[in-house]
Parts: sequence; C-alpha cells; structure tokens
Amino acid sequence: MKELHELVGAIHIHTTFSDGTGHYADVIRQASEVGLEFLLFSDHNTLEPKRMGREGFHNGMLVGIGYEINDRDLHNHLLAFQIDDEVCNGLDPVEYTRRVVAAGGWAVVAHPDERRNRLKEFPPYPWTAWESNDFQAMEIWNALSEWMEKLTQHNKFWLYLNPRRSVTAPTQWTLEKWDQLNAGRRVVGTGGVDVHAHHYPIWRNLSVVIFPYKVQFRSIQSHVLLEEPPDKNDGASALRQLFTALRSGRVFVSNRYVGDARGFRFWAEDEKNGPAVYQMGDRLPAGSQVRFEVKLPAEATQAILLKDSKPVGRCRDDAFKCLSEGPGVYRIEVRKGRRAFIYSNPIVIEAA
Ligand SMILES: [Zn+2]
Ligand SMILES: [Zn+2]
Repeated sequence: MKELHELVGAIHIHTTFSDGTGHYADVIRQASEVGLEFLLFSDHNTLEPKRMGREGFHNGMLVGIGYEINDRDLHNHLLAFQIDDEVCNGLDPVEYTRRVVAAGGWAVVAHPDERRNRLKEFPPYPWTAWESNDFQAMEIWNALSEWMEKLTQHNKFWLYLNPRRSVTAPTQWTLEKWDQLNAGRRVVGTGGVDVHAHHYPIWRNLSVVIFPYKVQFRSIQSHVLLEEPPDKNDGASALRQLFTALRSGRVFVSNRYVGDARGFRFWAEDEKNGPAVYQMGDRLPAGSQVRFEVKLPAEATQAILLKDSKPVGRCRDDAFKCLSEGPGVYRIEVRKGRRAFIYSNPIVIEAA
C-alpha cells in the first residue's frame, strides 16, 4: 500500500485581525514550538490577512487563510477557506454557504452543537441551517466549544486555569448527525481549536489568558494525509495539496492532550476483486465488500469500528481487521484508557 504523507496542524484560529489577542508571527512561532506543520486561520468576517499575502510557508509552517462568517444574530458560524473575497454581509446561512461554495471555497460548519445557557456572558452559537446541502465539512470536535459547554458559575475559575482538562469527547449528537449526513453525501469531519487567547479579568487588575495559543495547539489536532510530501518551495502548491486531501476526507482528528496520534491509519481493502485500497473519505458503490484495517499509535489502548454510529468491532492490539457488513458509514474511534483520543473520517459503502 502506498504510504500517505501525514501533516499535523490546527484549524480555526483567531488573531488580532478579529477578536484574538495574538499577532500572526507570534501565533506561528508558538505553533512551531509544539510541532505543528500547518495552520488554517479564520478570523471573523475578514480575509484581510490573505490579501496581505500571508498565506504560504513561514519558516516551514504552512499557513492557509480563510474566515469565519456568521448570520445577523451571530449564529450559524461557517469557516470559508480557498476563497479570495468575502461574501456580502447580512445573508442567511443557506445563502452564504451556497455563495462560498459557488466561489470555489471549502465551507466548514463551525461548532455545530452548542447548547449552553448557564452563563449569560457566553451564549451558544449553534448551527441551525441543516437544510443547506452545500457545506462540505463540519467541525466534529471544537476545543473551545466543549470547554465553554462545561462552564458554570461554580467551576469557571478552575476551568480558566485548567483549560484542557474539560476537553474529553465530541458530543454524541454531533457524531450521529455527522454519520447521518455521510449516509447521503460526503461531509468531512475536522477538528477545531477556535483559539482566541482571550484575557478575562478575575479580580481587580488580575486577568487570566484563557487557552493561550500554545496550550490550545496541544489540544484538538487535525492530521491530514497527502498523496505526496508537500512542495516546500511553493506555498500555493502545498496549500492545494493540503486542501485536496482535506476535501477528500483524508483526515483524522485527535486530542494531543491524551497522546501523540501520529501514525494512526484507517483504510479498507477489497475482499472480492483484489488489490484495491480505499482511504478515509472514499465512497464505495453498493454491494462492495471490504476488509477494514487499522494501524494504531503506540499510546492507543482500544479501537472501535462503528457502522452508522453503532459499534460493530473492537480491538486492543496494535492492528485489527474487520469485514464490512453491507452498506453503511464506517469509521473508527480510538480510546486511551477511558479518554477519547482519535476520530477517523468514514469510509462509506453506499446503499443500493
Ligand atoms: Zn464561531
Ligand atoms: Zn471562531
């Protein structure tokens, strides 16, 4: 089997171009220090840094720039990458998603399942425009969103000081919604750090930085599998490679706080017709029968194969093989002890 080239990075980053506190160069430096290889920035409502020519390699870090759109009520956040101009303001989410995709962009639904109502200063911003059939991806795990979901008046200071402790797993609702969507069409699952490094006042002149960039970069990471190593001499070409792999669904999401997920692989081999190999994101015609294979990183303890959100196979070894059982959305969840560690994108066998 051909070896794919893994790039580990962070998606959904805010800077001083909107409500983040970090400058581009500083954010990139902090990401390099924790070993990331790419960053996808998404400031609110502006592509200004892209127009300033900040995409490409910065001391070896591959930087892509999109932006985050919201509706009039500040709901329905959409990350738009690979476009050059902002769509006009004031549109409803179905329409701005349509326009992003029509302009050739890659549209990612951000933090789809926020419900919190305990602290009025942190209202939820869920995605509600599920009638849209245009978005090509959704965040299945957003570190900031999960942290905020758990905030209460009683625990907030503890959570301010221990930001990564609260990030334990995506919501079941998100995962089931994602699987249902993939039964009909490919919707790629991505990880989101949603980092702002906000300063929150806690007492008199004292403030605390919630989720500094460096801390957040060691939480939810996205691992993208490229056909070839990125072209280090040409940022534009390397970004095309990165987005081609992302759009194809060749990506898995991990929580770096739990362990180093590099080297995880999930693929399928054709049982009937010989050497064909399928990767995450692939959609196979009805009637296909495949053998799923998984390679686990050293730190994993348990892999679960799910079909349409239900477990159908389990293993505790470093590798496992499992046959498909008819049409369905097949993906892997990996645990380390009791903690959620890795979420693969699915391989789908279409219904007849
Ligand atoms: Zn948002
Ligand atoms: Zn955001």
